[in-house]
Amino acid sequence: MQKDSLWQAVLGEIELSISRGNFLTWFKNTELLNADDSTIIIGVPNVFIKQQLERKYNPLISSLLEKNGLSPKSIEYKIRSMNIKPSYDDPVVFGKAASLEEEVPKLSGSSLAHSYRQGLNERYTFDNFVVGASNELAFAACQAITQTPGKKYNPLFLYGGVGIGKTHLIQAVGNSLNEEKKGLRILYISTEQFVQEFVDALRFRKTADFAGFYRSADVLIVDDIQFIAGKEKIQEEFFHTFNALHQANKQIIISSDKPPKDIPTLEERLRSRFNWGMSIDMQAPDFETRCAIIQAKALGHEVTLSTDVIEYLSNNIPTNIRELEGALNQLLAFCEMRSLEPSLAVATSLLGTTKSRPKHLSARQIIERTSRHFQVPMDDILGPKRDKDIVFPRQIAMYMLRSELHLSFPKIARELGRKDHTTAIHSVEKIDKQSRLDPSLRQTIADIKERLYA
Ligand code: ADP
Ligand code: MG
Repeated sequence: MQKDSLWQAVLGEIELSISRGNFLTWFKNTELLNADDSTIIIGVPNVFIKQQLERKYNPLISSLLEKNGLSPKSIEYKIRSMNIKPSYDDPVVFGKAASLEEEVPKLSGSSLAHSYRQGLNERYTFDNFVVGASNELAFAACQAITQTPGKKYNPLFLYGGVGIGKTHLIQAVGNSLNEEKKGLRILYISTEQFVQEFVDALRFRKTADFAGFYRSADVLIVDDIQFIAGKEKIQEEFFHTFNALHQANKQIIISSDKPPKDIPTLEERLRSRFNWGMSIDMQAPDFETRCAIIQAKALGHEVTLSTDVIEYLSNNIPTNIRELEGALNQLLAFCEMRSLEPSLAVATSLLGTTKSRPKHLSARQIIERTSRHFQVPMDDILGPKRDKDIVFPRQIAMYMLRSELHLSFPKIARELGRKDHTTAIHSVEKIDKQSRLDPSLRQTIADIKERLYA
């Protein structure tokens, strides 16, 4: 019997022996990939279905295969690579919307047309964004914009370090508006792509089309604007786009890895415009928020993780959520391939080696690293001196003992040779507050952490 018809026969019988709902859920997209005397390989669409078939339906499948003349030694379930079509890659051909055709010149089938697109990725939504202290302000502002785009916070300027959810949030605004305010023209573009398109437009003498395209937006979302630094022509172009949109009360949303004042060689007139609306400094999520994110992402894979694994991941990857997601995916894939439970032991051996991160940082290591960073001798940090050059690194060390090791204040004080733990409270609070306002301080802390975990 042919593979396909054999599998159809088996499916037919399964359909008769279980409920319709179960049949559709677990068997709809399965196929027989290989059938010989020793091994049967059944293709399945995802981990969840694979696990369910292995755990629950294997005896049934095995007996039905046998009934149809096959008695293999083993049955394997293999996840087929699925063709998930990334909708954000679908080009929005310029001039498609009838109402726009009169206002803006059409691209005449030029080589440029294909590169203009709406740019949104449906995977980024408000629903799957975990809100915590570090991002609640940004989250609230983004949500407010979806209520009344162009009215409040224009432009909205979000800035903060890498992998903390800026792109996710600003894309979520676009996706939410796409759903709730149909008919609005929403464009998302990374600054790198904006620059590239502009260069192409110059080369093909299509700058009017380029300008027309972006000025036709009702909502323009520009990601990673720091890449505009040092590019005079594109700054000029963006300035005009900004003005045209802003004057027409169209919403502009911008993200950056630093505040406008720290973007080098940014024209003053753009800098001042970026400050017209609302600027929000996004922080890396704290420990609890990172745990919640891991939990949510694991559930997305239909996996429930134990608390110790969640805390291990959260502790080991402290700043970048993209990295955190990468580690989680690595762990799940590893366990899935070997049919292991994602336990702490597996996580430690897998991520401990690949990232070569120390499993347990000691207080000593943190103080040492901080003293080295500031080139202040350990003895001074631990000693009684109160010079500014020494007090500051000492405060940073206290802050890091709190943020990295979650030590109590009395313990922090003791580690630094202080008797009074109110100094520790005061120091941690001070650095915490100051780091929210001062990106260079945040960078300093990130540098020390980087070294610590390297
Ligand atoms: P950035 O643009 O700040 O560099 P991204 O928005 O690309 O960071 O975020 C990196 C990854 O982390 C994305 O996959 C994003 O979905 C995820 N992520 C970041 N913050 C959150 C959050 N609060 N909740 C859920 N996922 C998050
Ligand atoms: Mg980004």
